[in-house]
Amino acid sequence: MVTINENYLKLKAGYLFPEIARRVRVFTESNPDAPIIKLGIGDVTEPLPEACRTAMIKAVEDMGDRATFKGYGPEQGYAWLREKIASQDFQARGCEIDASEIFVSDGGKCDTGNILDIFGKGNTIAVTDPVYPVYVDTNVMAGHTGPVNDKGEYEGLFYLPITAENNFTAKIPDRPVDLIYLCFPNNPTGATASKADLKAWVDYARANGSVILFDAAYEAFITDPELPHSIYEIEGARECAIEFRSFSKNAGFTGTRCAYTVVPKSLKVTASDGAEVTLHQLWNRRQSTKFNGVSYLVQRGAEAVYSPEGQSQVQGLIKFYLENAQIIRQKLSDAGLTVYGGVHAPYIWVKTPQGLSSWDFFDKLLNLCYVVGTPGSGFGAAGEGYFRISAFNSRENVEEAMSRITDNFKV
Ligand SMILES: *Cc1c(COP(=O)(O)O)cnc(C)c1O
Repeated sequence: MVTINENYLKLKAGYLFPEIARRVRVFTESNPDAPIIKLGIGDVTEPLPEACRTAMIKAVEDMGDRATFKGYGPEQGYAWLREKIASQDFQARGCEIDASEIFVSDGGKCDTGNILDIFGKGNTIAVTDPVYPVYVDTNVMAGHTGPVNDKGEYEGLFYLPITAENNFTAKIPDRPVDLIYLCFPNNPTGATASKADLKAWVDYARANGSVILFDAAYEAFITDPELPHSIYEIEGARECAIEFRSFSKNAGFTGTRCAYTVVPKSLKVTASDGAEVTLHQLWNRRQSTKFNGVSYLVQRGAEAVYSPEGQSQVQGLIKFYLENAQIIRQKLSDAGLTVYGGVHAPYIWVKTPQGLSSWDFFDKLLNLCYVVGTPGSGFGAAGEGYFRISAFNSRENVEEAMSRITDNFKV
């Protein structure tokens, strides 16, 4: 008889986005003409940079000519892309990362999930709360947790609450943990980590033999030159951290698909027989067995991000979304709300007023302003009492949504 991976049955039924859709549907049934504005989903809205489009069109032509046609490429990505990544994203910032340590992929989401393939059972896993749900659900699927409780917490995971009280950076655990997921600038809170914050994590990881899984998908939104873009800006991180990056949020590649993961060769773990093994060797083996590389066309598009035109066009996109974020911050503050994030991230994390629950605030915003956001409690128990507003939208929609809030919403 066929058996299944019953860990999947432990997953809390996809609740957050279906529930949002359900409440919006119920509302539109009785208010069919209400012009709803969605500031909920974490997807970009602006078109691809011209440099990327031009490079991809040229790449299509390459494919049409026997002399430049490409079949399977290297599973790890083409050298010309890996070299540009290593030199411009890392070496230019003083990080000692070599092109051979870059693994190009089709998404940060799959990499942060697939990485569990190279770790064993029995690790203690720490995640922040609230959190990007992929880290949690992939651990559930891999059988690293017990069942979920009513608050949405899985037995066996070590939750690190990130709230206004700790400046949304999480307290260093008071016990040893093996794998630590960190995401800065953070989705959903929009918080950043300073070099001192990351140094505390790197020192902890090295003292405890832990591995940090550092998600820097939003690094391009950092505007303060003092804030670290990469965990490898911290001394010792090459010995304890894997970093995930993506072209989704900087160059608008959410529908084009390209990302990469950095696994330093100096990141070593000890196998049960005492042998020293590099995680680089395991991830290389995993990728070359289960993955056949990102499309040539898309890698050419990603390469164009590193050209002078590409860089300035990406800066233009980031600037546009950060101006949206600034408008949202300003207008919500004017309406008497307390806001966090949105300065080095496209997300604004709002404290719900008058002790409203995240879902009550959702209903109020929908009913009074026809604006849809994301209840903080959907990202974890400690997100209760908060609400995420995304700056990924047109200027017109952002301005209209915000004036509805300042006009109709009284704290
Ligand atoms: C958007 C996002 C990513 C990138 O995902 P892709 O699969 O590369 O599109 C990674 N991590 C977080 C937290 C994100 O919000």
